[in-house]
Amino acid sequence: MVSARGLSRTYGSEPTLVHALRDVSLDVAPGEMVAVVGRSGSGKTTLLNLLGGLDRPDTGTVHVDGIEVTALDDAGLSELRRESVSYVFQSFGLLPALTAAENVGVPLRLRRTPVAEREHRAALLLDLVGLSDHAAQRPGELSGGQQQRVAIARALAGSPRLLVADEPTGQLDAETGLAVMALLRGIVESEGVTAIVATHDPVLVALADRVLTIADGRVGT
Ligand code: ADP
Ligand code: MG
Repeated sequence: MVSARGLSRTYGSEPTLVHALRDVSLDVAPGEMVAVVGRSGSGKTTLLNLLGGLDRPDTGTVHVDGIEVTALDDAGLSELRRESVSYVFQSFGLLPALTAAENVGVPLRLRRTPVAEREHRAALLLDLVGLSDHAAQRPGELSGGQQQRVAIARALAGSPRLLVADEPTGQLDAETGLAVMALLRGIVESEGVTAIVATHDPVLVALADRVLTIADGRVGT
């Protein structure tokens, strides 16, 4: 499903050149949930951004679902993000003026999905994440855990093949974080999506199918 070969990414230039990622190769099978674990600054975000097409490597290739992501131009990357890969971020990233249901529908608006179908799918997804009773509330009226559930529902709206989550529980307390991770785990199974989740919380790692450890830009197992 995801295949990376020889990925390297540096930031800046000498004398302050940072090797954020060094010759990373990995494969993720369809329907797998992989945790990327490493301390702050180890290269998790850099790796996820390359795998999801948010950033380009200095060297190396990424394939997602048979598409060579590293060969796409900007229009191709936009299409990839609209059609195949979705993101969940630590900071939720919901639009404050929209209700929960409207936020979930945003990816469908970008695809010009008819409004009735959009509302129907948003309602289904809010039900999936346990927030049917909160559809009309705005992000400011929801707890952090609820906001992240809305963000997960939004990420699923376009039926992505790959879900990339960068420390999705980083702003949540331990108990809420575990609930959100367990929700993600269940969704990987029920929706048949593939997920790559960065975290530095060892408790959450136990829910993944596989753990990739990253240190100083290198991936071990
Ligand atoms: P993590 O997500 O594991 O905390 P990152 O991928 O964000 O790690 O960062 C890896 C390394 O690259 C760190 O040393 C970080 O300081 C550096 N880095 C990340 N983004 C940038 C950037 N835009 N400019 C310069 N250095 C960066
Ligand atoms: Mg990070």
